[in-house]
Amino acid sequence: MNYTIAVIPGDGIGPDIVEQALKVMHKVGDKFGHTFTCQTVLAGGAAIDATGGCLPQETIDVCKASDAVLLGAVGGPKWDNLPGGERPERALLGIRKELGLFANLRPAVIFEELAAASPLKPEILAGGLDIVVVRELTGGIYFGERGTKETDLGPAAYDVEMYAEEEVRRIAKVAFDMAMKRNKHVTSVDKANVLVSSRLWRRVVAEVAKDYPEVTLDNMYVDNAAMQLVRNPRQFDVIVTSNIFGDILSDEASQITGSIGMLPSASLAKGNFGMYEPIHGSAPDIAGQNKANPTATILSVGMMLRYTFGLGAEADAVDAAVKTVLAQGYRTPDLYTGEGTLVGTAEMGQLIADAI
Ligand code: NAD
Repeated sequence: MNYTIAVIPGDGIGPDIVEQALKVMHKVGDKFGHTFTCQTVLAGGAAIDATGGCLPQETIDVCKASDAVLLGAVGGPKWDNLPGGERPERALLGIRKELGLFANLRPAVIFEELAAASPLKPEILAGGLDIVVVRELTGGIYFGERGTKETDLGPAAYDVEMYAEEEVRRIAKVAFDMAMKRNKHVTSVDKANVLVSSRLWRRVVAEVAKDYPEVTLDNMYVDNAAMQLVRNPRQFDVIVTSNIFGDILSDEASQITGSIGMLPSASLAKGNFGMYEPIHGSAPDIAGQNKANPTATILSVGMMLRYTFGLGAEADAVDAAVKTVLAQGYRTPDLYTGEGTLVGTAEMGQLIADAI
């Protein structure tokens, strides 16, 4: 098969890590008989420098005409003094909106070899960790009505949390479909004891659950979920939640793994279209120094193969190659603890490609 991919290397370490991820992707193509046709486009600081805007129309057009998008990261100190609306990071909100990316999937997985990097005690993590946070990405308080007004207490500001049933239904379906491919357990996180929008959320999720009799559904208040994630994270399989709660909980879940350079993510639209990127930023402090860990971006390619292209065996091959290279003791500087072999960005990418 031939697949087309819009590639946005972005800023900082973005180009370094994307180069390695493409190396691995083309190796998968050679091995399994697929062609991946890539078109590189600009977003973020690189786009500001070249065109004056962080998200050129050409980038949107190329992304829309492709089967999937692979993104490195955007942003950096060079553009930090621009006003909010003109900053590189603005490109991310624009892309999500233009491409209708309503579901954000963030796995938090602990590789056995890296368990020591977790801030949690080993006994809490015995047996490993494998959670996916499914976050609603285009609704809720981040996109609701906002403003300022005068009140009895003086000037005030407000942001409105609102969810339509259909927005909840489609994100719940993504979560239940995911659970069916995993351990068949969904935890829906809300604040239904206080928020009326959460009560609607809870009701709609329960309705969707009826179509998935094999999946166990639990409801949990967000304050308890934040606590349970550090107390007993192994109780979770798939967590589904709103935009703002997901923003916070997915960061917490990834911190538990202790390895920011290892975690991929996917943002999905209707159908199989998706944008794939590491969870970390552009790490300007190590850009261009062959120090960045490319694994999160490589695993993002694995997610692209699995979720947009439906290539399960090929995705498994990427995951297995990463495990093999870790088990052989190779470590980029962010993972290196004095044991094993220290390697740079390019070497890590090559080792993983060779292990496919
Ligand atoms: P960051 O994730 O870029 O870096 C945090 C720390 O982690 C740094 O010490 C960095 O060196 C390290 N790190 C990150 N990724 C790494 C990797 N792959 N390998 C090794 N070490 C890695 O977060 P930040 O410093 O807060 O932000 C830097 C810039 O990135 C900012 O401009 C920010 O706005 C932007 N940002 C972009 C995205 C995105 O494009 N999706 C996300 C977050 C931050």
